[in-house]
Amino acid sequence: MIRDPETLNLLLDSVSRFVRERLIPNEELVAETDTIPTDIVAEIRELGLFGLSIPEQYGGLNLTMEEEVLVAFEIARTSPAFRSLMGTNNGIGSQGIVIDGTEEQKQHYLPLLAAGEIIGSFALTEPGSGSDAASLRTTAVREGDHYVLNGTKRFITNAPEASIFTVMARTDQGMKGAGAISAFIVEAGTPGLSLGKIDKKMGQKGAHTCDVIFENCRVPASNLIGGQEGVGFKTAMRVLDKGRLHIAAVCVGAAERMLEDALRYAMERVQFGKAIAEFQLIQAMLADSKAEIYAARSMVLDAARRRDAKEDVSTEASCCKLFASEMCGRVADRCVQIHGGAGYVSDYAAERFYRDVRLFRIYEGTSQIQQLVIARNMLKAAEL
Ligand SMILES: Cc1cc2nc3c(=O)[nH]c(=O)nc-3n(C[C@H](O)[C@H](O)[C@H](O)COP(=O)(O)OP(=O)(O)OC[C@H]3O[C@@H](n4cnc5c(N)ncnc54)[C@H](O)[C@@H]3O)c2cc1C
Repeated sequence: MIRDPETLNLLLDSVSRFVRERLIPNEELVAETDTIPTDIVAEIRELGLFGLSIPEQYGGLNLTMEEEVLVAFEIARTSPAFRSLMGTNNGIGSQGIVIDGTEEQKQHYLPLLAAGEIIGSFALTEPGSGSDAASLRTTAVREGDHYVLNGTKRFITNAPEASIFTVMARTDQGMKGAGAISAFIVEAGTPGLSLGKIDKKMGQKGAHTCDVIFENCRVPASNLIGGQEGVGFKTAMRVLDKGRLHIAAVCVGAAERMLEDALRYAMERVQFGKAIAEFQLIQAMLADSKAEIYAARSMVLDAARRRDAKEDVSTEASCCKLFASEMCGRVADRCVQIHGGAGYVSDYAAERFYRDVRLFRIYEGTSQIQQLVIARNMLKAAEL
């Protein structure tokens, strides 16, 4: 749903200009230094990009899903590290509070997240629990008006920068599975919370992950999200449902950028006396990529509109994440191929994007997990 096309177009234009004029020219610097320059972070803040999906009364832009994916298509036309910086505040780092937080929690944290004054992280994965998230082992034991947290979270995006963490932990030690899991807001700097060393990743330099370790970390009971135990896993899954559509949109934007670069290269590179773009085998790679991007874009927009219409889009969101992330991988591979040897060295963005987009098939639910969700929903619907 687009509420006001004129306002949205202004936002899309300013995001697109910012990506073109400020972010793309800084991509290499970010990749080399593994850091996003502070002036760029400030500009992202000024543009309001930290609060896209946070309600207006808490200082955000409150974009509908359709509006959000249109913005994501634009933001993703540059290094995914930039999107990752603002991505947790707009997605997994804020949505637990937006969806299920108490009014007091919303008023306290959401304005800071929307303004980009603080960064939020989402801590679900553990060393022993990834795809099987419901088997997580971090514990939260009630002691008076506090919970005491113990456990380790792994690969947590923006943990080194975060001021708050949404942490899923087990509050009922006698019960197995998802029903014993609760979600907490834990502030960085709380005694007993420490960070591991920053992970050395394959790509997305400038975006950081590390372990988050809780050792007798005392968290006020008022920071239990929604004030209710046992519903934290549901909160996490709702957050990820929305996140899957957002990541699918990011895959579309990244693929469009890679294809644009590859087309330009193919038109400039001459072999056998002609631009390689004139060879039909190169044209096949360009055309297949274009068709697949169009399919993914259409899927994402359809699912976003359905979500705005309050339909249950669990299946569609997984279809989008699965298809768009796999499509993005195929496009990245073809774009390296079109660049030939130049696609294998780091002088061109193709090599960097090839590594950067590999992550999209892994996090916020691997492709295999999306397949399982889709098939499970199909079987459930067939039984009705
Ligand atoms: C850069 C990065 C950032 C991340 N950011 C965050 C974050 O901010 N917060 C957070 O909580 N987590 C984060 N993660 C964790 C991410 O969500 C997990 O890595 C992902 O869900 C997969 O879990 P795993 O790594 O434990 O793999 P595993 O679950 O061990 O999976 C390994 C392989 O087995 C397959 N597999 C597993 N179960 C099945 C099954 N039932 N059927 C078929 N195949 C199966 C998987 O698809 C995969 O191919 C991040 C990870 C990375 C790499």
